[in-house]
Amino acid sequence: MTETATEGPGSGPWDVIVVGGGNAALCAAITAAEAGCRVLLLEGAPKPYRGGNSRHTRNFRCMHRGPLSVLTDTYDEDEYFHDLMLVTKGKTDEHLARMTIRTSEECLPWMEAHGVRFQPSLSGTLSLSRTNAFFLGGGKSLVNAYYNTAEDLGVTTVYEAQVGHIHLEGDRFTGLDVSIAGAPSRHIQGRAVVLASGGFQSDIEWLTRAWGPAAANFLIRGTPYNRGTVLRDMLDQGCEPVGDPTQCHAVAIDGRAPKYDGGIVTRLDCVPFSVVVNRDAQRFYNEGEDVWPKRYAIWGRLVAAQPDQVGYAIIDAKSLDLFMPSVFPPNKADSIEELAAQMGLDPAALRRTIDAFNAACREGTFHPTELDGLATEGIEPPKTNWARPIDTPPFYGYQLRPGVTFTYLGLKVSDHAQVQTPDGPLRNVWAAGEIMAGSILGQGYLAGFGMTIGTVFGRIAGREAAKHVG
Ligand SMILES: Cc1cc2nc3c(=O)[nH]c(=O)nc-3n(C[C@H](O)[C@H](O)[C@H](O)COP(=O)(O)OP(=O)(O)OC[C@H]3O[C@@H](n4cnc5c(N)ncnc54)[C@H](O)[C@@H]3O)c2cc1C
Repeated sequence: MTETATEGPGSGPWDVIVVGGGNAALCAAITAAEAGCRVLLLEGAPKPYRGGNSRHTRNFRCMHRGPLSVLTDTYDEDEYFHDLMLVTKGKTDEHLARMTIRTSEECLPWMEAHGVRFQPSLSGTLSLSRTNAFFLGGGKSLVNAYYNTAEDLGVTTVYEAQVGHIHLEGDRFTGLDVSIAGAPSRHIQGRAVVLASGGFQSDIEWLTRAWGPAAANFLIRGTPYNRGTVLRDMLDQGCEPVGDPTQCHAVAIDGRAPKYDGGIVTRLDCVPFSVVVNRDAQRFYNEGEDVWPKRYAIWGRLVAAQPDQVGYAIIDAKSLDLFMPSVFPPNKADSIEELAAQMGLDPAALRRTIDAFNAACREGTFHPTELDGLATEGIEPPKTNWARPIDTPPFYGYQLRPGVTFTYLGLKVSDHAQVQTPDGPLRNVWAAGEIMAGSILGQGYLAGFGMTIGTVFGRIAGREAAKHVG
């Protein structure tokens, strides 16, 4: 049954209260309801925006020992773990990571059984067809399917339900305070709670405390509702933190993207074929260091380190069709000076930068889809692949901004998803998804692993909470 915000969540105590309304929360709620619990799900967002960052996703990364649904070939535990170690540079909890990887294999059939449909990955992304299962209709369809399943199982969902405080007595959860549709907070009792309310990236003040004033210029790729209220509350009550509070995952996105919720379409993949300059029309990093899937995640940070946290990617007519079309059309001009003027850059300075870059380009064979070694000579920073002169009008430009995907600071959990304090675990509090992902990932990110963590730990949290009350 779904109650509207004005009807409220009725009387407690509930068996299991789930805080959040994304993938991790839904996996927990469904699992606990299937085990016979009376479950209340409190989603902070209004119904049209339900589903947090999960609704922006496209796929999840899944281990498998043979073809499985849309996944081809095999992807075993060691290879998956190795891929993870490469991106986290060893900052990984091996026990939790391997457990997550192993459990991912049983997640796919579970997801299908609970309404998720998969599709083969797009042609041309061969390696992903083996490692990542794509959701038919994207994360929005996944979330909608799970809400339907939860409703069928009798889960009560309340939207616009902002949880502000979790009541703990010693090592036990007793209830929580929630404001529904902006009304004064009310207290709801529960026998167990699952915290699945994401990271804190949409609290710009918190981000600014961690990152400095530069954070004011960051764009948030996902939901504005993940403000870390519950995370802060639990940390203030002595729960053990994990993950670096000053770190977040950020990619370079179109500077014209909305402040929140732009999603995946605002990403720009033009950098390897561009000259990228800062506000002063100066280059600052090797645009051709490696293939884009291995570099896109560092460009958010690179742009964040520039004056005013802004960059400008400049290409010419030769490169326009070499990357995924952008959602907003680029600036376009017949001369570099005109393009600079359109983008608010000093025309003479951009002209000098492009001239110096063009003079450093060498003859050679250009291969857009592989490392071609076509490098500049005698210029700093170099461009070590795909370095072709920017000389063929019309010229195009994109403004780049750092787009934050998620923050790393979270709650430390055990392999049973139980929230930890320095004095041991809380007896009836579990956490799943982004709020505890730092327990596994110390830094870096492997595409598709966020949904894997949420699915694995959401199901564990739901199962353990049900066991506790059962
Ligand atoms: C643009 C984009 C694309 C991505 N693509 C992928 C991908 O393809 N594959 C992948 O694996 N990962 C991807 N990720 C990462 C992925 O979105 C997350 O890892 C995953 O969704 C986390 O799930 P979650 O349930 O923990 O959080 P969320 O889905 O963000 O859910 C958190 C929920 O908590 C609610 N909430 C927050 N605070 C409160 C409160 N105080 N009270 C009540 N409710 C509250 C929010 O409204 C929201 O419903 C992407 C992220 C972004 C931003």
